[in-house]
Amino acid sequence: TTGTTSALHVADVTVRFAGLVALDGVGFTVAPGSIHALIGPNGAGKSTCFNVLSGVCRPARGTVRFGDAELTRLAPHRIAALGVARTFQNIVMTRGTVADNLMLGRHGLSRAGFAATALRLPHAVREQHAQLERVREIAELTALDGLFDTPVELLSYGDRKRVELARALCLEPRLLLLDEPVAGMNAAERARTAATVRSLRERLGLSVLLVEHDMGLVMRLADEVTVLDFGRRIAGGTPYEVRQDPEVRRAYLGS
Ligand code: ADP
Ligand code: MG
Repeated sequence: TTGTTSALHVADVTVRFAGLVALDGVGFTVAPGSIHALIGPNGAGKSTCFNVLSGVCRPARGTVRFGDAELTRLAPHRIAALGVARTFQNIVMTRGTVADNLMLGRHGLSRAGFAATALRLPHAVREQHAQLERVREIAELTALDGLFDTPVELLSYGDRKRVELARALCLEPRLLLLDEPVAGMNAAERARTAATVRSLRERLGLSVLLVEHDMGLVMRLADEVTVLDFGRRIAGGTPYEVRQDPEVRRAYLGS
């Protein structure tokens, strides 16, 4: 089921923390159905940018639009409801099985009330079944189907990172924001996650914006790259163009 999605337009976004400009007039566009990487040295402003896009941080200036919707300064749950979901750089793990975690991820989408579900009223039971079926599909999309009933605390680090990704997918986003999706993973886990991200774009038609330090992965996965350094956008283009850019080389090699 390939749907259509919207472009994300980020324009002139500025964020200041006491005496520090974390983002300075940053702008870029994520094309519909594309994989876009946001890269840059530590402290460049990548996570801050994600915090602005997901409503966790209010910019002093600038706008964020997703299709016709203006996201700037909306609360996180409003942004999620408009189809933008994120993962965090560090895993925030809960207890329970993979299935429990994914069902929790569907919570915001549930129409039957908690009481109706607890009382097992027919409409609530039907909805519960439909939710469970969708959650199974999401587990399959993220290569977690074999681990559906496994407690998350027994999973490998790489699998737990993918549970986070699956949880974001439970919100049925049109744009997925992934903060360092392969950080701390071994080579096999990295490859599996890269394949998952590619198949999400192909099978769900969604757009992906990812922050990632693994340059090999960025170069293989991204259609387009935006480079930040000290809060400024210093380059943007295809992976090939960005790799050739003298300013990017300077920022990374410090020469
Ligand atoms: P990146 O994710 O690219 O490593 P960040 O967006 O985390 O960079 O940080 C950008 C800059 O903003 C850094 O100098 C960081 O120390 C600073 N910063 C980030 N969050 C805060 C905050 N809540 N308060 C103060 N400074 C912050
Ligand atoms: Mg960061």
